[in-house]
Amino acid sequence: RKADITCQVLVLGSGPGGYTAAFRAADLDQDTVLVERYGSLGGVCLNVGCIPSKALLHAAAVIEEAEAIAAHGISFGKPKIDLDKLRDFKDKVVGKLTGGLAGMAKQRKVRTVQGTGTFVSPHELEVEGADGTKLIRFEKAIIAAGSQSVKLPMFPWDDERIMDSTRALELADVPKKLLVVGGGIIGLEMATVYAALGSEVTVVELMDQLMPGADKDLVKPLQQRIAKRYKGIHLKTKVVEAKAQKNGIKVTFEGDDQPDGSIFDRVLVSIGRSPNGNKIGADKAGVNVSERGFIAVDRQMRTNVAHIFAIGDLVGQPMLAHKATHEGKVAAEVCAGMKSQFDARVIPSVAYTDPEIAWVGVTEREAKEKGLKVGVGKFPWAASGRAIGIDRTEGFTKLIFDEDTHRIVGAGIVGPHAGDLISELALAIEMGCEAADIGLTVHPHPTLSESVGMAAEVYEGTITDLY
Ligand code: FAD
Repeated sequence: RKADITCQVLVLGSGPGGYTAAFRAADLDQDTVLVERYGSLGGVCLNVGCIPSKALLHAAAVIEEAEAIAAHGISFGKPKIDLDKLRDFKDKVVGKLTGGLAGMAKQRKVRTVQGTGTFVSPHELEVEGADGTKLIRFEKAIIAAGSQSVKLPMFPWDDERIMDSTRALELADVPKKLLVVGGGIIGLEMATVYAALGSEVTVVELMDQLMPGADKDLVKPLQQRIAKRYKGIHLKTKVVEAKAQKNGIKVTFEGDDQPDGSIFDRVLVSIGRSPNGNKIGADKAGVNVSERGFIAVDRQMRTNVAHIFAIGDLVGQPMLAHKATHEGKVAAEVCAGMKSQFDARVIPSVAYTDPEIAWVGVTEREAKEKGLKVGVGKFPWAASGRAIGIDRTEGFTKLIFDEDTHRIVGAGIVGPHAGDLISELALAIEMGCEAADIGLTVHPHPTLSESVGMAAEVYEGTITDLY
């Protein structure tokens, strides 16, 4: 069969991994085709993930700030929420970014093909689109088909009151009673949005702590804050059934700490994401996929098939956009003949909740489990002039050092802007900084970033009393 399109590099999926790979490949003079099943480029992150959620979280933060400043003499009154306008704002933010991508693809002469792609041989992908089926023959391929949210099978998903994160971001209404199943990053970010808009939020989590990837002490300030604002946070609690009724969704729980009520106006299920590796005909290309849908790759992002690469959520944890983009660049460069490798020492994680929680590298729990000899420098924000000035003293900055070398191996920050503050520590770990390097770096005063230098000084013993 004759191919409709031929190219040097085919990229399957246009999320942060895919578009980065396609653009880099084109910049390196590779004739590149980008296949995407949806009408707009950008994948989960731009369309139904990172970007719309942060636009809504911005609105939530403004509402919370306006409420908080009332205690200090400035009152704005109860917020009036025009959901249509808010949705419009979010859609415009998304549109600006996805539209930008389309322009960037055009500029680089990356050909985009809309439709669902399935491999039919090691050098061919069939794309099923609105205008029929196209066969693309490629020299090299980069699989960037991402992930999708895990759906609890016993839930009535055809009822629109049951939501995954995509539905929750549609912002159809502000439910009076919202149940969030899963207290991870995505669930708690959406809980932050809906609580600020006026929903009575209940969170249930199977594990014994919210955000199980982070150290327990980092999560505590968030938990204390939301415990006052939400109807309930229930740990070690399992959802076993959900039934759609006229008066709401009736949910049955199992566990020691069950919520009071069982009827909710909407239920958000955010229990993780599963990779799309099993849905792209990878076997026809000879690419090995695990039962769960992950594709194993080496440091050059190469699969078991030498000319096929894979990047992003479907190659493993952490499923984060910034990991996908870096991997995308590596894959494209290797396709173009460069000797690049994905060699990140650490990948930061951020929950854009209120307060934000960010961590990078080794956690204290991990250090304990692995028997690593580490020491901790912790700076409480109650001793930060800036944190006091913004009336947010619940946070802290914690640095984790190798006790033998005093090199930084991990860090955690909780408090407003923790997500921005963590970057310095990712760089410090990449550069192999010692505590003294961080403590002797002059940080601007008065900023929250000072807490980073101070935490290193606490570890070094050059600050003993927290002035
Ligand atoms: P994806 O973004 O999943 O893109 C894959 C693309 O491939 C999709 O567009 C899909 O339509 C397409 N595709 C799949 N199969 C086919 C096929 N057969 N044919 C054609 N096209 C196909 N990460 C962060 O780092 N920061 C955040 O703040 C953040 N917030 C998030 C909030 C939410 C609500 C969610 C759901 C996720 C969030 N993430 C965040 C995670 C982030 O979105 C993902 O890690 C990232 O999008 C992964 O990029 P990717 O390139 O691997 O794939």
